[in-house]
Amino acid sequence: MLRLAVAGTGYVGLVAGVCFAEMGHQVTCVDIDENKVALMKSGVSPIYEVDLEQLMRKNYEAGRIDYTTDYVAAYKEADAIFIGVGTPEQPDGSANLSYIATVARQIAETIEKDCLVVVKSTVPVGTNDKVEQFIHDFLAHDVRVEVASNPEFLAQGSAVHDTLHAERIIIGTESEWAQELLTRIYEPFGLPIVSVNRRSAEMIKYAANDFLALKISYMNDIANLCELVGADIQDVAKGMGFDPRIGSKFLNAGIGFGGSCFPKDTKALDYLARQNGYELRTVKSAIDVNKDQKTMLYKKASKRLITLNGLKVAVLGLTFKPGTDDLREAASLENVPLLLEQGADIFAYDPVGAASFARLYPEGPCARGHMSYASSIEEALDGANVCFILTEWGEFRAVAPETYRKLMRTPLVYDGRNLYAVDDMKDAGVEYHSIGRKPAIREGVKESR
Ligand code: NAD
Repeated sequence: MLRLAVAGTGYVGLVAGVCFAEMGHQVTCVDIDENKVALMKSGVSPIYEVDLEQLMRKNYEAGRIDYTTDYVAAYKEADAIFIGVGTPEQPDGSANLSYIATVARQIAETIEKDCLVVVKSTVPVGTNDKVEQFIHDFLAHDVRVEVASNPEFLAQGSAVHDTLHAERIIIGTESEWAQELLTRIYEPFGLPIVSVNRRSAEMIKYAANDFLALKISYMNDIANLCELVGADIQDVAKGMGFDPRIGSKFLNAGIGFGGSCFPKDTKALDYLARQNGYELRTVKSAIDVNKDQKTMLYKKASKRLITLNGLKVAVLGLTFKPGTDDLREAASLENVPLLLEQGADIFAYDPVGAASFARLYPEGPCARGHMSYASSIEEALDGANVCFILTEWGEFRAVAPETYRKLMRTPLVYDGRNLYAVDDMKDAGVEYHSIGRKPAIREGVKESR
């Protein structure tokens, strides 16, 4: 058992802290947000992740995890301190490292025994060298401190499972002492450990994330071409996926990637390349394709309809993907304002993301349109002229195609997640536009070009 502190209780920090406790370590999670800490102490998770709350309660009751804003108490006795604070995008595309720097300084000024500082946040290559130097510059006591890189690969929506059953743990260290300590921390997980140097670990995170982003943008690019030449992207993906060199995962076309990672990590790597006099053309293309893809459905609908003004528009799905309440870089944040500017009367439904979205777009008049939140899919669809599906929540997939025809004023559906078979929608009498597939056009409706 080791005494661990975790700085930041977001998706990465909280899940890591809880999983370390589950593996028998003594964990203190630190956050600057007092409300979050009070919530966590009462057994409530500030974020939505399957199984998280149950593990929080179990380990809190067992005395293996605690939550605090008192970083001094948490850091001074820790064997290792994990940093999981945000590294958001700055206007120029670079990563904002100010949260990391704040924690680094707090650590330097408080630790009273030898300690390994482990950066879990996604940071540009070379950052950990600087963090280590920074800590040494501000160190208040004569202790040994080293910095290790331990990038996180969890996916929101399955964060606990991904942490407990990770395909690999990447540890980037510059000494045997650091490597051994990190290996001891991860030993109880029984997972493969890939041990590399610090800069390689930092690069692995970006290279892996950006590769996935590229895969998505590539499929979206091919999907757009499929529409033009009469091929079907789902059949194409199926055929491609049999090749083990390609793999069958991450081949779904849609309305682009969002979330807190792919958008900022592609931009940050592009920025790092430019800073080093190199143009990372592949990643730049992934960014460009994604930008256009996010409003693909809106553009299609604008061509099809004479106006959106005064139309009741059902928006199904607000979060950037299912299984999370996270809205960061979600397609909804691009499309809802465009629809409102055009005067649409929006009825949005999301199983967990509506409350956060309503803080940004409260109920009532907005721009030229109006924003409302429905408490069910049926309420959103009732009397709607158009429906946009933006997130692939399981409960949307379970809606029978006939429901759209029965409930909507005009059954016109724009599906950014390809949830339905085109022929099923056609048979149900729904006009259906999706990504990379031929549309289902109802009788008597002219296909728009
Ligand atoms: P987040 O924004 O959800 O959480 C960050 C937390 O840090 C917040 O609760 C904030 O209050 C807290 N914080 C800020 N300053 C602090 C300080 N000085 N001391 C203690 N707490 C402080 O962030 P996240 O989504 O968990 O991401 C964190 C990092 O992990 C980022 O670099 C991100 O790129 C990376 N990452 C995220 C994911 C993901 O799916 N979210 C996956 C892999 C890697």
